[in-house]
Amino acid sequence: MPFRELVNQDHAVLLLRTAVRSDRVSHAYLFVGPRGVGRHNAAIAFAQLLNCERADGDACGQCRTCTLIASGQHPDVRVVDVAQGRLLDPEDTTKTGIGIKQVLALRREVVYPPYQSRWKVYVLVDADAMTNEAANSLLKVLEEPTVVSRCQLVRFSLIPSPAIERALVERYGVPKGRARFVAALAGGELGRAVRWVTSEETQQRREQMLDLLERLEQADPLERLDAAEEFAQDKDNLPELLEIALFWYRDLLVWQQTGDEEQLINLDRRDRIAALATALSLALLNARIQAVEDAKDALEMNVHPRLLLETLFLRITPPTEPIPGRRT
Ligand SMILES: [Zn+2]
Repeated sequence: MPFRELVNQDHAVLLLRTAVRSDRVSHAYLFVGPRGVGRHNAAIAFAQLLNCERADGDACGQCRTCTLIASGQHPDVRVVDVAQGRLLDPEDTTKTGIGIKQVLALRREVVYPPYQSRWKVYVLVDADAMTNEAANSLLKVLEEPTVVSRCQLVRFSLIPSPAIERALVERYGVPKGRARFVAALAGGELGRAVRWVTSEETQQRREQMLDLLERLEQADPLERLDAAEEFAQDKDNLPELLEIALFWYRDLLVWQQTGDEEQLINLDRRDRIAALATALSLALLNARIQAVEDAKDALEMNVHPRLLLETLFLRITPPTEPIPGRRT
């Protein structure tokens, strides 16, 4: 993927393109930033731009070189990604990060000129998880006291949710309503958003949670406890479930106060939002949001998932009952 396909990393892209244009490419770059914002894609785009047969400020993305790089088949552009099993030395069994054998293999290869392109490029994924032994060995290639001091830093930032939403709609064909929701939930990480829209399981989880939240408006206490037990089993996804709940009540509040569907995150459930927002008072909605916020705090403090959900679901009381007091 050439640079033009990256979402919202103009600063990093400008720096890298300028380096190529002015013929001042550094020997090593460290791409710093959160997960899922395009660091890996930028590294591939950079390797393409350096070697593309028809580069014009950006890689063409179409030539044989660009295609080989994109598919991981180019002999001069090597990716070390332990999690994906992409290794320079296949004998290496280090699982915690890039191990010494990878760096030794790199050092053996790097002394030879490129096979067929202008530049040899090594992309080390999750370089921060490199073992000490490997990092010390890498220094011998970089010839500087620390790995960081020899690398030019390229910073990547979180992507604003409107840009993620646009990318989901335009590139992944996600319907606008769902794109809005996923972008809001992705917390600036496009990679996370893309995983969600391409994962059946994640979509199901969201549907189940929203169905439950609607049901809770009518449910008796036993149903609430059952639901807590069921959802507590999915404890790895609890942070996400609580975010889903928060966005849901936020939507009810937004609709109640503005009636503006453009501002809804769960645009695909517009009709249900409209109905519930009419049935619930402002005080009840604020109490629900507070209940979810308290559950998020409890999660931070490692409260047991079932206890946390029981408390939360019991606090989402039907509109006819008095609002229970704050948990202490
Ligand atoms: Zn090309």
